[in-house]
Order: sequence, then structure tokens, then C-alpha cells
Amino acid sequence: MTAQPYAYRRQELVEPDWTRLPGWRAVTREQWESAQWQRVNCVKNVRQLRAVLGDTVDERFYADLADDQARLATMSMLLPPQMINMMVPHAVPDTESFYADPIRRYMLPVASDRHPVWPSHPYASRDSLHEHDMWVAEGLTHRYPTKVLAELLSTCPQYCGHCTRMDLVGNSTPAVDKLKLTMKPVDRYDAMITYLKAQPGVRDVVVSGGDVANVPWRNLESFLMRLLDIGTIRDIRLATKALAGLPQHWLQSDVVEGLERVARTAARRGVNLAIHTHVNHAQSLTPLVAKAAQTALEVGVRDVRNQGVLLRGVNATSEDLLDLCFALQGEAGILPYYFYMCDMIPNAEHWRVAVWQAQQLQHDIMGYLPGYATPRIVCDVPFVGKRWVHMITEYDRERGISYWTKNYRTSIEADDAAALERRYPFYDPIDTLPEAGQAWWLREAVTAGAGMLAE
Ligand code: SF4
Repeated sequence: MTAQPYAYRRQELVEPDWTRLPGWRAVTREQWESAQWQRVNCVKNVRQLRAVLGDTVDERFYADLADDQARLATMSMLLPPQMINMMVPHAVPDTESFYADPIRRYMLPVASDRHPVWPSHPYASRDSLHEHDMWVAEGLTHRYPTKVLAELLSTCPQYCGHCTRMDLVGNSTPAVDKLKLTMKPVDRYDAMITYLKAQPGVRDVVVSGGDVANVPWRNLESFLMRLLDIGTIRDIRLATKALAGLPQHWLQSDVVEGLERVARTAARRGVNLAIHTHVNHAQSLTPLVAKAAQTALEVGVRDVRNQGVLLRGVNATSEDLLDLCFALQGEAGILPYYFYMCDMIPNAEHWRVAVWQAQQLQHDIMGYLPGYATPRIVCDVPFVGKRWVHMITEYDRERGISYWTKNYRTSIEADDAAALERRYPFYDPIDTLPEAGQAWWLREAVTAGAGMLAE
């Protein structure tokens, strides 16, 4: 009999043994499960990583990492022990296995990962989605007609190498001087609430950042209760990668009790309260992550959903995506909802996939999961918004340019009569193009004479 392209087998979740790593040989379960211990012991630089891994990986790796931090990284290093423990989860790492690890590849990028000729696409930009341009109050992006994004703060408990909000989120790096939120948090939250009260057409608020796990719980609860007092708001989604990166945070008793109060109020008022998290590989799902998701559901959060990012070298195969989705859906109680194509930010070309590759992946994952748990792969097209990857109107495969249309105006297009007639381009990574297309971009770069190529 001919085998299926993908063979499902149930894999129960296992917490990798952290004592396999030299720096954590003496760490107890009580310490490991403490959010405070996790935060205090985050790895923020090469020296601290060396204290955890010791000589399990050789100097070549540490030098490669230091080189990336000094020249190319758009995000500073910040890794809770929980996230490091997901790398090479069931063996003592060595240099090769650590280099090859999918979590390492996006949470701890090194210079040799980046593309040597085209580290950035010529049209890559900071704030590639123009969220800042669409702020209607500081941190409040009004892009879609009925939905807003509220960035409460600009920090996270962990920093992902490919962060699409690299313009704002995290500490400045040698390559990127970050934008700063300037208002006091209390004034920023007031301005957001004032705007939303005056906009009855907005019914859906994504409460994000950064990561809401870094908002002191009392302040977050107060903001959520104020949102719930606005009768026109019917959906609230809390964005937190920490559910997977620092599940200990979401298991603290004050957070669980507070979440229950918010969920109860939301349920009474008929508002859909959900948590959206960001998991990119099945290795991230451990019993502690499942416990954090299940606890949120038990206290009344209506749904916990995953918005992963499709990343080359991390999860861009149908097998990796399906393994992840089955672990989310079957073991952790998290709905596989979206995979975003990686946005066109600087120094991200080695992670991005072409639109045709994303279409192929969408094709290849259909039919295995329950329909409602089959994720959509989406492209967030600048000035357009999320589109399913098959929704292109035209596609120049040689130059890797896809064209997209839209059916609503963003907040900066109220006076733009042609906004809905226009076609908006999106670009494939140049190294995925046929030779003629690569040569065309090379000529463009030479003609433009600007810093399109790596030095
Ligand atoms: S958790 Fe989200 S906002 Fe924070 S660094 Fe990662 S991608 Fe960016």
C-alpha cells in the first residue's frame, strides 16, 4: 500500500529535563515553575548563555552569535530558561544540533544564518505594516474598519529574532534604534479608551504590545474592565507569546484569579474573550504550556488560539506544520488559527518564504486536521492587511512580485478614492527566484546604487 504523505501519530507532551544543561544542574522543580525565577534567570547576552550551555557548544557558535548581535540583529537577546530548554529538547546539545535547532534558529539568530548577499529585501522596511502611521492614539492602530490593535507596552518576556514590530519592541540594538512610546502608560490607556468610546463601529480589540504578560496584572485587569464597560466592544483578544515562552507567568495565582474575574465579566456581558499566542514549532509545547492554556480555558476564557509565523529553517514544511498543529489541537487545547508569512522587515530574508511556497504548504496541510482547526496561511500585505495566500490577483514569478487588492480603507485612506482600485505589491525573497529574476534584481540594485546589497 502506498503511504500517505503525512503519517499522524499521537505524541504526548514531555517537559525537557533542564538539568541536562550545565548551568541548571541544581535547579529544582519549584524554582523552574516559578515565574520570578524564570524572569530573574533570563539569558540576555553571550556571557549568560555560556553560563547555561558551558562548553557543550564551541566558541564558533558564541562568536557567530556575538557577531550577529553587533551587526545584524534587529532584536536584543532575551530568553527565559523555558525557551532555552525547548532547544535540542531531549539531548545534551552539541554545536551541530544547536545550530540546526528550529527554536534556536528564530529565537537566537547568528550571523551565519542571514543571507550573505540579500540579508534584506530592497523593499524591506522598519514598521513594514505601517502600524505606526495608523495610530489614532499612541499605540492604538486602527487599520481594519471594525478592529483595532492596542499596543499597551513595548516589551515582552522574550524577544523573537523575526519580530514584525522590531521598530518599537525591545531594546535598541546596534542595527536598530527603536522608536519609544512617550506617554505615561496611564495616559496612553486613557487616550485609547476615549477613542474607543467615541467609535461605536469598532467592536474588536486586540490587546497586545509587546506582550501583555509584561503589563502588571492590576493595570491589565483595570484596562480590560474598562474595555468591557464599552458596550459596543464585542471581542477582546489578549496577545501573549509568554503563554508558551513563560507559561509560569500565566499560572501564577494572582494572574489566574484576575483572569477569572475578567472572563466572568466578559461572559456575563456576552463578550468573546480569547488569548492569542505565538508558537512556531511543536518543540515549544510542553506540559507546562498545556497547563497554562487549560487553566485559562478552565477559568472561562472562551478560546486560546495560535498565530504562528511561517519561517524557513523553522517550520516551513508540511510535516513540521502538521506536527505543530496536532500538538496544539490535540495536546495543549490551543486552536491552530493562523500562520503569517514573515513580514518584510530588515535582515529577515533567510526566514521568509515565497508566496508560491506558502500556497503549496496551505495545499499540503489540508484534510488532516478538523476543518475548524486547519490554520489559514496568510500574507500581511503592506497597506492591505491579512489576505489568504491564494487571494493574489496577479503574480510575476520571475521577479517574485505578487499583487493584491483590498475591500476596505485603512484609517489613513479616508480621502483616497482609488484605494480600493489599486493593486498592492508583495515581494518574494530574491534567493528563491529563478536566475533571470535574481539577475533583474541585481541590475536594479546596481542602478539604484543604494545599499541594496550586503557590504
Ligand atoms: S513576542 Fe511578539 S511582540 Fe514580542 S518579540 Fe516576539 S514577535 Fe515580537
